[in-house]
Amino acid sequence: MSVSNEVLPGKCIVCFSRGNLRRYAGHFRWLTASICSTCEAEYAEPLGAVLLWIAVNGGPDACADVAGDWVIYNPPDYVGWEAIRRVYTQEIDGILSLIESELGHEYAQAFRSGRPSRIN
Ligand SMILES: [Zn+2]
Repeated sequence: MSVSNEVLPGKCIVCFSRGNLRRYAGHFRWLTASICSTCEAEYAEPLGAVLLWIAVNGGPDACADVAGDWVIYNPPDYVGWEAIRRVYTQEIDGILSLIESELGHEYAQAFRSGRPSRIN
């Protein structure tokens, strides 16, 4: 599994399938993206956006109250918070690289030194 919030035209932002696409309107509705009917029915969120959101909002412990009922697609299953927390821990290095490339070196350093701050 890789960390990416890349939007692929014509593919579901959650599972990357091409079937039954509609406009995504989940927790990250500012994303201009498509979602398939299956992922929409599962209320699944795009993994890259979920992991980045958790990272910039202080990590899993700080986010459980808000994101505790979120669902991601971890093939072949739709899974909840405990799996999200596990994937976050596995992917933290990739998340930090993404933060560094998107938000800058100083911001990434703050995460690495254990001083994340909420940005919204
Ligand atoms: Zn999908």
